[in-house]
Amino acid sequence: MPHSQPQPKPMQTVKGIPVSPGIVIARAFVLGEAETHVPHREIEEREIETELARLDGALRDASADLVLLRDRTEQQLGREAAKIFGFHLGLAQDPSLLGPMRERIRRDRVNAEVAVADSFKKVTDQFKAIGNEVFRQKANDVLDLERRVLGKLMGENESRLSALTEPVIIIAHELTPSQTAGMDRKKILGIATDLGGRTSHTSIVARAIEIPCVVGCQRVMQRAEDGDLVIVDGDTGVVVVRPDERTLEEYRSQQDRFSNYRAILRETARLETVTKDGTRIKLLGNIEFPHEVENVLANGGDGVGLYRTEFLYLTNDHEPSEDEQYQAYRHTLELLAGRPCTIRTLDLGADKYTQQRAHEPERNPFLGLRSIRYCLAHREMFKTQLRAILRASAHGPLKVMFPLVSTLMELRQAKMIMNDVCEELEEEGIAFDRGIQTGIMIEVPSAALLSRAFAQECSFFSIGTNDLIQYTLAVDRGNERVANLYTGASPAVLYLVKQVVRSARRAGIDVSLCGEIAGEAIYTMLLIGLGLRTLSLVPSQIPLIKRVIRSVDIPHCEELARRVGSFDSDRQVLTTLRDELRKVDPDSFGGWIAE
Ligand code: PEP
Ligand code: MG
Repeated sequence: MPHSQPQPKPMQTVKGIPVSPGIVIARAFVLGEAETHVPHREIEEREIETELARLDGALRDASADLVLLRDRTEQQLGREAAKIFGFHLGLAQDPSLLGPMRERIRRDRVNAEVAVADSFKKVTDQFKAIGNEVFRQKANDVLDLERRVLGKLMGENESRLSALTEPVIIIAHELTPSQTAGMDRKKILGIATDLGGRTSHTSIVARAIEIPCVVGCQRVMQRAEDGDLVIVDGDTGVVVVRPDERTLEEYRSQQDRFSNYRAILRETARLETVTKDGTRIKLLGNIEFPHEVENVLANGGDGVGLYRTEFLYLTNDHEPSEDEQYQAYRHTLELLAGRPCTIRTLDLGADKYTQQRAHEPERNPFLGLRSIRYCLAHREMFKTQLRAILRASAHGPLKVMFPLVSTLMELRQAKMIMNDVCEELEEEGIAFDRGIQTGIMIEVPSAALLSRAFAQECSFFSIGTNDLIQYTLAVDRGNERVANLYTGASPAVLYLVKQVVRSARRAGIDVSLCGEIAGEAIYTMLLIGLGLRTLSLVPSQIPLIKRVIRSVDIPHCEELARRVGSFDSDRQVLTTLRDELRKVDPDSFGGWIAE
């Protein structure tokens, strides 16, 4: 019988959620779960003090690392992003966590490693048992700190990550925010993870440091081994493990095309955003942190159309004061140097939680006390933010918008509170823009269906399709298992968008669209055809969308919108949109155009 050779493992293609664009090809570095083997040792009474001192030393060193990491992140990504580590630092000093550790050493006579592992495990188990995304994320943060403290105790000064010598693609089940933020872009070319959604901290950080990243890959970790060649396509969300020659060739040429194309696009960034027949379209940027304004401007954006202010809260270990918020908003306006900025009031709740306010989880948080509802239920917090926004409005053109408004009553209440705050500032003699415009995000079907009435009571609409899609189709936008059902090409969603634009036009108020589809080229002609003249999108996509806009004319877009409006399936819509884009801008059509 011939001797059988071990068969080479086959190529595997995994589809995930693209969260940070770009195509990279490199060897895999599979980041295992905390494989740290915790040594178990019973100690003598006389060793108790030594173990307690070891524990204190490890916590001190871990905190020192966190401070360094925070400072480095602050330098590279800005102050808000660095505050992710605030929570870790807070935990490392939290008596409710440290007390039981010390107690366990004293009472049960165990070594510091066991005391640390047990106490952290108790907390992570409690968080995980709650079973929602918010607490899973918190458990992740706790795990991150545990690894760090155990690493110190066990003499692991360098994590495996920082010991890397050649550029790799990180494959992991889930990355913690500090792991991602600590990544050296020269060494880490890309990221693919099993879990995660667009709004997880890891995705936010990956986008901010511009490492191509695909999350929600469902078991990519089981498919790849250390050293396997891997392709991460952060534009379409495809991860290929052990690509065959043909696939490799395809992606290499796509990479070449992509970098040539990016170079051309950089040129486009400087051009005017105008259709072939002379209609000016405004392209604004979506930002989470003030420093991203530089990105918006470098990509040729006209201003900021969506400033997700909740990220100041999400990356902070304490509730940001009025002054901290004011400084962030003012800084944003200063960087914009007279260009417009639309600030969204806190969109907290659901998957976006604060460290201090997440003690009482909801069973169904996406349908719960989130966004404007949360603000109306926490008036003092809301008023603090409105004061900060209004004070900042003295420094540049600012608009305010309320997220997830679903009833007129909510809008009226929010406006009333805003009026109260204006009066307070007036009495205190504090400068603010008295003519500041207030608008709402249209993110739920009820607001879209009642948009005519809403248009009578606010100055502008911004259509948030990310949520509008999820609430119209009843598909969780962060759940990789139903990602195939989540599409902006749904005729039901497009019908609502059309109604909202129509209501705004009739009432003579501004309307823009700031969901992710604003940055997806395939939708550009349709959105213009539906009457939108302002889009707000992820800054890196601005040049591409500008290029598409410069290749089309309004009658063509309107004809397309009419045609697509008669379709009853999202497949039909997508096929038509793809064909039209291919016709108007054949060069722009490539794998990097997200659908
Ligand atoms: C949206 O829902 O479309 C939106 C822009 O808001 P966010 O993605 O922050 O929920
Ligand atoms: Mg939203």
